[in-house]
Amino acid sequence: MVHNFNAHAGIFGLEQPFIPQLGTLKGIEMMKDFTGKRCGYLTAIKPHHQNKRNKWVWLFKCDCGNFTTARFGDRLSCGCLKRKNNLTHGMKYTPEYQTWQSMKSRCKATRLREKRNYLDRGINVCEEWKDSFETFFKDMGKRPTPRHQIDRRDNNAGYNKDNCRWVTPDIQESNKRNSWIWIIDGVEYKSRAEALKATRVSSMTLIRWCQGYVDKRDGYIGKPKPNCRMVRKYGT
Ligand SMILES: [Zn+2]
Repeated sequence: MVHNFNAHAGIFGLEQPFIPQLGTLKGIEMMKDFTGKRCGYLTAIKPHHQNKRNKWVWLFKCDCGNFTTARFGDRLSCGCLKRKNNLTHGMKYTPEYQTWQSMKSRCKATRLREKRNYLDRGINVCEEWKDSFETFFKDMGKRPTPRHQIDRRDNNAGYNKDNCRWVTPDIQESNKRNSWIWIIDGVEYKSRAEALKATRVSSMTLIRWCQGYVDKRDGYIGKPKPNCRMVRKYGT
């Protein structure tokens, strides 16, 4: 609730001394003096009233000039802080926005593991999405449920409209286990078993051919073999 100071000046005006209403004995709360103390944008002015549970609610002045009442520590602003953060598209606190941000930060790769998994493999966010959350949201749509995550169909390709969709972790898991199409030397295999049978190499070699590898001892980066990749099967 936002209070206009002038409208309340007669009742809660600063010039009037504050007299605490003690209420019933049962309901007395030790009243801490927060006068002048700040919490976010809010500066505590004076105790305002006791709420239904007999806790003291204070009158605050917000840095934007509005007045508001709240328990000390419950709020950071009169509400203007949230409005300000939401100004551009109103979606700053949505899961889609968080996804967009972490996707970009993964590809910027400030951590070593991200560097290996994304930067070194040339996986990045397409130009259309890089600077525009609006375009990302238009292409991807709303995240269907909180369990859904963004997923790249082709593990060696980047984040773009054609390569991404929302999936639940179990679909992602099953894709990892047995729902890949293996393309080895340009030949397509429906499963890893099929690819293993045809190539007569180890699973590890197949994965190295498709994804490349990083030698943990000397940091050597083995690039994927040409014409080798893993592509996710969807709709299984
Ligand atoms: Zn404010």
